[in-house]
Amino acid sequence: MRALTIDAHGGLEQLRFREDVVEPMLSAPTDVRVRLRAAALNHIDLWTVRGVPGVQIVPPWILGADGIGVVDAVGPGVTRVTVGDTVMINPGISCRTCEYCLSGDNPLCLKFGVLGEHRPGTLTELVVIPEANVRSVPATTPPESGAAFSLAALTAWRMCVTRARVGPDDEVLIWGIGGGVAQMALAICKARGARTWVTSGSDEKLERARALGADMLLRHGPGIDIGREVRAQTGKRGVTVVVDTVGTATWTQSLGALGRRGRLVTSGGTSGHVVETDVRRLFWNQWTIMGSTMGSDAEYDAVIAEFIAGRLTPVIDSVHTLERSADALARLESGKQFGKVVVRIS
Ligand SMILES: [Zn+2]
Repeated sequence: MRALTIDAHGGLEQLRFREDVVEPMLSAPTDVRVRLRAAALNHIDLWTVRGVPGVQIVPPWILGADGIGVVDAVGPGVTRVTVGDTVMINPGISCRTCEYCLSGDNPLCLKFGVLGEHRPGTLTELVVIPEANVRSVPATTPPESGAAFSLAALTAWRMCVTRARVGPDDEVLIWGIGGGVAQMALAICKARGARTWVTSGSDEKLERARALGADMLLRHGPGIDIGREVRAQTGKRGVTVVVDTVGTATWTQSLGALGRRGRLVTSGGTSGHVVETDVRRLFWNQWTIMGSTMGSDAEYDAVIAEFIAGRLTPVIDSVHTLERSADALARLESGKQFGKVVVRIS
């Protein structure tokens, strides 16, 4: 079958489109096999190409976490979907037997993994995953939207709803509004009645964010201190919540924007992973700094319900073919995208 693969870690020169990848077989009674219609990219794909410490790949390694497709085969223990169902995929794979899984908090699973990083991914024609990781959706679902939704929406939902508990009294600062998680966070925070502040290095992206409902627009870049900007525009009070997925480049400014009793929630570090925090400001302002990753079964059910109801829809930046999907990763790496980079498969 066709797939976008890597044989070794490095830069995007390692990407290799192949047509001779062996089709995966069901390996557990509760597995399903999905014939993919579309996949979508996330920063995790770039991290996987570069290499994640402690994570081994077996060449040819298939990239991709997000996807939508049609169930092609089911194991004898599968009860919730049947062959022919259109399904969206939750890319977070958990063991379902450890104490975290049994308490319904799958992303804390001791064996947690993500499609495309710890298991063969979705930038191909067929993927095998546990039944618990798929949800039936209408066959009329646009493949591009269905593929682009899951990882970003699930991540943003857990960050904003479960972790930061954003509500109508909140002022939320969201970094890098061109990104998929940031755009989902914007939609979720708006729906919960919060006032939203978004940043971008591009005026064009800020204008597009205004059309998505962002209240306050902030241009970030060299020589600009977003923390100072936010304090100046809030009478020194700052915001109550910061959604930061950028890491090293933004952390100090995020804390500078955060008011007393503020909450900072992070799910990634696209610019770097090591950050500096002045502990005196942390305790004096009584901040809460929290991590978040992916989402649980219940959170996935919640975002799928929002998707089917039409209340949460991903913004699509561009659609690429599987044969040219290396171009799609280059688009993501460039940072020029506004929304999700999608790969159409069938
Ligand atoms: Zn587990």
